[in-house]
Amino acid sequence: MAKFLEFQGKEWLRKSGLPVPQGRVASTPEEAKKIAEEIGKAVAVKGQVQAGGRGKAGIVKLVNTPDEAAAAAAEIFAKNVMGVPIYQVLVEEKLDIKKEYYCSFVVNGAREARSPMLMFSTEGGMDIESVPEELLFKVNIDPINGLQVYDAVDVCARAGIPAQDISKFASFLSKLSQAYKKLDCQTLEINPFIMTGSGNLVCADCKMEIDNSSVGRHPEFGISIARDLPGAPTELDLIGWSIEETDARGTGFLMNMGYDEVSPGYIGYHPIGGGSAMMGLDALNQVGLKPANYADTSGNPVGSKIYRVAKCVLSQPNIDGYLLGGFMMANQEQWHHSHAIVKVLREVLPTQKPGLPCVLLLCGNREDESLEILREGLADLMTPDGPGKRIEIYGKEYVTDTKFIGQRLLALSKEYRAEKESQGK
Ligand code: GDP
Ligand code: MN
Repeated sequence: MAKFLEFQGKEWLRKSGLPVPQGRVASTPEEAKKIAEEIGKAVAVKGQVQAGGRGKAGIVKLVNTPDEAAAAAAEIFAKNVMGVPIYQVLVEEKLDIKKEYYCSFVVNGAREARSPMLMFSTEGGMDIESVPEELLFKVNIDPINGLQVYDAVDVCARAGIPAQDISKFASFLSKLSQAYKKLDCQTLEINPFIMTGSGNLVCADCKMEIDNSSVGRHPEFGISIARDLPGAPTELDLIGWSIEETDARGTGFLMNMGYDEVSPGYIGYHPIGGGSAMMGLDALNQVGLKPANYADTSGNPVGSKIYRVAKCVLSQPNIDGYLLGGFMMANQEQWHHSHAIVKVLREVLPTQKPGLPCVLLLCGNREDESLEILREGLADLMTPDGPGKRIEIYGKEYVTDTKFIGQRLLALSKEYRAEKESQGK
């Protein structure tokens, strides 16, 4: 899911007309000081990480002067939250909090609902898990017409908001609901939103997650990959994403796994399906080989999509082999894989990677035909001196034999390395 940091989410809320504290994000203590000077009063300095409980973790600090803001920022930058470093702090005006409230908009997946849902509570500021169920009030939202005023009023009344404040709360929640829809959020949690001493409602925090499938409609978000990644996307990640994004037929997933493109023992890894991928890793682990990348072509993708994934997997420089790991009796018609793999290997092996070990395991629906397509389509490459001399094709007899598959890859890759070294490559 594409998740925004607090400051990004708040920026989108501000643009949607919601009340957000004045402030900006800083990457150094000096910048934090400058922003505090601009604000000209007490500020909150808040570490920007994808985690709740920042207050408890000591990365939300309230200070009175610009120098204190710089010191608070320096202290926050020195910390990390569960191993995740902090690169930015949000410096914003300190709020005059009379009371904290909770609200969130989520997707209610219950069979009878399948709609967005508003959750509201007068107990804001704490983990939602620790709010007693009887103090959390819920209402389903019509996905087309949005939150109705009477529903917003009703939920506030049930939660015990005094009559004179109800229209203020209802209008605040309606605006949030409109933003939730317009921005195609999957989750929007404001914990807390607060009432100031003068009676205004303000979003003090913001957790915003965007529906992955909607990212194409929102170029303004600048999201290059609508998926959680441990760091900045690599070139392979970006290519993989473009395969996914431009063709919705089946999965064509491809992701970097930290391969440095120099070390030995890496295999271009092409499992088919998540469970199968785990068995493929067993195969590699047992013999000390490593996956250069992660991939997945399941859910009955078309041949062209499988072709694009396989081509990228095989294009990784310096790999010691290629594993097509269909460690399952797939119900997808496997011949789409066969056609794709024949085309890719015919393109790659003769000119770029002659002799590369390629262990191809395919089982399941249309298995006999699929293996025949592989054998026939690659036969002329698989001669003793041909570029496909290390292609080995296996079917259901080996579907659970991870050890055998691993050992074949290891033996072939040793041969391949030795051959390359003898040729001075
Ligand atoms: P979280 O702990 O990651 O959810 O971070 P929050 O932004 O929700 O902040 C935690 C708590 O800091 C809030 O619940 C408030 O009780 C408290 N707090 C006190 N003063 C301020 C303020 O001026 N601004 C903000 N954002 N929080 C404040
Ligand atoms: Mn919070």
